[in-house]
Amino acid sequence: MGQEGSNEPKTQNCFRCGKELPPGNLTYVAQIRIFAEFDGILREPEGGVDRQLDQLLKQVERSNPEDLEKEVFQEFNFALCKSCRDRLVDEFEHPWEGPFRVPGGMDRFTH
Ligand SMILES: [Zn+2]
Repeated sequence: MGQEGSNEPKTQNCFRCGKELPPGNLTYVAQIRIFAEFDGILREPEGGVDRQLDQLLKQVERSNPEDLEKEVFQEFNFALCKSCRDRLVDEFEHPWEGPFRVPGGMDRFTH
C-alpha cells in the first residue's frame, strides 16, 4: 500500500567481474581476515628499550585509532559468482601462476 518497497531483496554484484547476483541464486562469499601476529620476539633496539618504547608511544599518539585498528585486524567479505569463486580458489591454490588481480585495484578499500 502506500509504502516504499524496502523489503525488496538487495541485488549484489560479484566483487570481481561485477556481474549481478540476483537474489535466490547461488552466490559465494569469500571472507578474508588479515590480522597482525606478534611472534613474541623483542629485538634489542638501538638506543635502548626505553627510547624505543617512547617512540612507539609517540607514534601511537599521532596515529588515527581507526587506522591503528585496521593495521591489527581487518575483515573483508566478498560476494562472488560461481566462475569467479572458481578462479579465486585457483589463484589461492596456485599463487605463483599470476598476481592476484582485482578489478579497479585495491584502491577501493582506502576510503
Ligand atoms: Zn564474477
